[in-house]
Amino acid sequence: MAKLTGATIMARALKEQGVEYMFGIVGFPVQPIARAAQLAGIKYYGCRNEQSASYAAGAVGYMTGRPGAALVVSGPGVVHGLAGLSNAKENCWPMILIGGASSVKQNGMGAFQEERQVMIASPFCKFAHAVEHVYRIPFYVEMAVRNSIYGRPGACYLDMPDDIILGEAEEETVHFPAKCAEPPRMTAPEESIQAALNALESAKNPLIIVGKGMAWSRAEDEVRAFIERTQVPFLASPMGKGVLDDNHPLSVGAARSHALQEADVIVLMGARLNWIMHFGLPPRFNKNVRIVQLDISPEAISQNVPAEVALVGDGKAIVGQMNKALETRQWFYPKDTPWHKAIAEKSAANAKQIQVMIDDDSAPTNYYRAFRDISPWIPENAIIIGEGANTMDIGRTQMPNHGPRERLDAGSYGTMGIGMGFVLAAAAVHPDRPIISVSGDSAIGFSGMEMETVCRFKMPVKIIVLNNGGIGGGVAALPDNPLDALPGHLTVAARYDKMMEAFGGKGFFVTDPKDLKAALDAAMAHPGPALVNVQLHHAAGRKPQQFGWHTS
Ligand code: ADP
Ligand code: MG
Repeated sequence: MAKLTGATIMARALKEQGVEYMFGIVGFPVQPIARAAQLAGIKYYGCRNEQSASYAAGAVGYMTGRPGAALVVSGPGVVHGLAGLSNAKENCWPMILIGGASSVKQNGMGAFQEERQVMIASPFCKFAHAVEHVYRIPFYVEMAVRNSIYGRPGACYLDMPDDIILGEAEEETVHFPAKCAEPPRMTAPEESIQAALNALESAKNPLIIVGKGMAWSRAEDEVRAFIERTQVPFLASPMGKGVLDDNHPLSVGAARSHALQEADVIVLMGARLNWIMHFGLPPRFNKNVRIVQLDISPEAISQNVPAEVALVGDGKAIVGQMNKALETRQWFYPKDTPWHKAIAEKSAANAKQIQVMIDDDSAPTNYYRAFRDISPWIPENAIIIGEGANTMDIGRTQMPNHGPRERLDAGSYGTMGIGMGFVLAAAAVHPDRPIISVSGDSAIGFSGMEMETVCRFKMPVKIIVLNNGGIGGGVAALPDNPLDALPGHLTVAARYDKMMEAFGGKGFFVTDPKDLKAALDAAMAHPGPALVNVQLHHAAGRKPQQFGWHTS
């Protein structure tokens, strides 16, 4: 009778459950799992920091619909992996963190890197468990995969002690459960569908908010059909961008604040009224706003603002139901209403406000002038990754998305440092598409060492660093005594491009915007990874905002 090791069983179970990508760092005791995963046909990406590996696993889950795996060593490895676990939880993205653990037989003895790993992972997880018998590994893997993608997607944790990884079981004693099916698509009762449409029809200033829950549920066709059929203006959330093309005529992206403040009925589709949406409360929202809320998670309904109509279930299925129900209605939101006009006027005023910065060719450059060259250079089918404070916020408005699940950023948890992990994930999932990351200089610092990883895996990713020499604002020159610098100040004009060169990629350093376009084109023409380091004026900033970014 053939014997299988725990590592082999784990790899086979993951593969059979549709887990195709694993990111990790090997060491005690997980090395055999990584190797077995490779032999089972799982693509394994060895990273330089567990944070990036775990961020990558979550992003893979979001992009593919099946959880990505992150493999980390015991103790400190698991602690670092919590970064991605918490990020996945907050973003509602499926991933599985697999933590090596000290041997069961040494529990409580002060073993090497012994840690209460299931306990520390649990607050971030839908399902977290230690594997206690070799033959039960496939059971736990199926549990983790199913929990990660059914209902609101999220993170799961599996604890793999050394003696389970190295332990053996007779093949016949190991039951591999059938592959967990795609998540069921729950629909809403017909009366709720009718109530939602009635509410929308009664609106003076209707608005649809499209969140990343719709991207996750692959509802792009249904959402586009709904919006084009009803002619109701829509606002995409930061990662809901691309479910419909940002250049769609019904997008209110360029008049976001105005649209949120003045809307009287909002159909919230797969988005939460959390800090990103200013809690749905005044002064950012109309105090009498009526909410129709579509979400897969019943507990999410009426968070912060009571929902007038709740549509609980799958986004794709329910918007499909609404489209069907519209077949028997004549109603659509008329063109040329004062609402359309006000949004158009506000968009034009906002565009005018930033035009001076776009046109400013002085060196070092500002954000908007930099995006003047960056945005048209980005290929239509690119995956765009953004991180950093101003870099991400301004980038979100200046770099349009054209398709769903094509934008990855700091997300619901506001995580800085996701950039290179997401770059890895995007390049792994979409080897045939351009991967563009636009990062602040502070943000790239969290995960910059993964430049070695993208070079090693020959990923032809293009990374832009908008470098103002600081967290938030920078400074023209650092004081002689570094202790006199403000806490956010970083090296002025640091050469992140040389880091990329150090690992075999191509680097470009741009100090005058007149040279930016040529550098971008050369980076794109380079067949491997490239980094364009753009020096910004230390005081460059956002256009004046009506509200501080954190105004509730
Ligand atoms: P955004 O950041 O784009 O505003 P959030 O992460 O705040 O989006 O919200 C996404 C919402 O989508 C979550 O409340 C989640 O429960 C919901 N969701 C997840 N999957 C689905 C689905 N298949 N159908 C509908 N809603 C979903
Ligand atoms: Mg900076």
